[in-house]
Amino acid sequence: MDTQEITTTGCRRCGTEIAGVNGRYSCGACGWTNPWHEGHRDLPGAEDDPDWPGRKRNSRRDDTPPV
Ligand SMILES: [Zn+2]
Repeated sequence: MDTQEITTTGCRRCGTEIAGVNGRYSCGACGWTNPWHEGHRDLPGAEDDPDWPGRKRNSRRDDTPPV
């Protein structure tokens, strides 16, 4: 089932508060969109992507159990 998580952020170009779905934002004022990879990816293997910004590899703290 698809779940749509609505969040808001400030446009990084013009500062307008904009709402986005699943971490994707598109500003209606200036046309700015955030990079696709900043979205809340739920595809298998996303965390294995070395470019995934959500986690630094080999830096997991022992006192932070994986979610
Ligand atoms: Zn904007």
